[in-house]
Amino acid sequence: MRERLLADGHRESEDAQVAVVNTCCVTHEALSKSRKEAARAARTHARVYVTGCGANLAADAFAGLPANVVVVAKRSEETPEFVAGDVGAIGCVQADARLDRVRAFVKVQDGCSFSCNFCVIPLVRGASRSRRASDVLHEIVRRVAQGHREVVLTGINLGCYRDRTAGFDLPRLVREAGATPGLERLRLSSIEINHVDDALISALRETPAVSPHLHVPLQSGDDAVLRAMGRRYTIATYLRRLAPLRDDFNLTSDVIVGFPTEDDRAFANTLRAVQEAGLTKIHAFPYSPRPGTATAQDDPVPAAVKKERSARLRAASQDACLARWRTKIGRDDVVLVDRTGRGYGDDYSPWLVGSDTGIGELVRVRGAAVSEEGILAA
Ligand code: SF4
Repeated sequence: MRERLLADGHRESEDAQVAVVNTCCVTHEALSKSRKEAARAARTHARVYVTGCGANLAADAFAGLPANVVVVAKRSEETPEFVAGDVGAIGCVQADARLDRVRAFVKVQDGCSFSCNFCVIPLVRGASRSRRASDVLHEIVRRVAQGHREVVLTGINLGCYRDRTAGFDLPRLVREAGATPGLERLRLSSIEINHVDDALISALRETPAVSPHLHVPLQSGDDAVLRAMGRRYTIATYLRRLAPLRDDFNLTSDVIVGFPTEDDRAFANTLRAVQEAGLTKIHAFPYSPRPGTATAQDDPVPAAVKKERSARLRAASQDACLARWRTKIGRDDVVLVDRTGRGYGDDYSPWLVGSDTGIGELVRVRGAAVSEEGILAA
């Protein structure tokens, strides 16, 4: 949407007349934050477009907002065109793209044809579909020319990526994207364990630009809970498929805490699985029933229990992160600086570097110590 508006001659500015609030509905909290953002934007902008999953799931979540708020309940492919058309082009203004030049998120796939019982995404994003490989590869060339050092391939269910006409699947896309001249780093945003197979692992390992980092949603470490969730794997499968990456890749994950059938024993299995898989950073999501899903009516685990389990999981995650970070002490790494004094190493571990280092620079560093926030460069 940003690029589409910039192409029409609009300009990004702190006091813009138009705001776009791209919303999330993956939890109840995400939706209510989205509404708050829309209400806030409506006070400071002449026109506000509410787009994305929240707008598609529940337009009534945005009911009662001021008349300058437009809720756009459209598919992602149609949204930029609609917003641009509604705003109207200002043809003669020269676009000044104030894009983040460090890391580009290149969307290659949208939607999901899986049907996890708790998940609202297939309802709001529709079935899986992929961009043409040639479009993706051209966009990466363009991003590199703009000065981006890192590209993250994104999608709702990336492993479903297919361009059948051109004969591409995700492993081939990784190989060809990684061969883009000038691209320093390539990562995947997230991948389901069902898609972590030999072909993908070989593509990741054999493509020099690929960072040794993989985000693989676990959701639960208990087989009965995984079944109740409608996930399509057992914990043994999860561990077996990640085993070849465990020694050198930084493995991160998402876990839902307090799913309806999760008791203390099941949660203990999750903590064990996190450790056995060698996961570091875990995003813990307290379970939140979503309208239209199979488990929409079930939410028996008390909020206090979810909170306590989330805190235990976050503590385990922090311990695992610290343990990984400590292995970097005395060793060299290359950090892509993405904020003042901060950046990410090759495996997406966070580093704290000197504040005089320029944003967008790749700097060679040596680990001196660790803090709660990352590895301190010498
Ligand atoms: S695979 Fe992911 S996006 Fe698809 S239904 Fe399951 S949780 Fe939702």
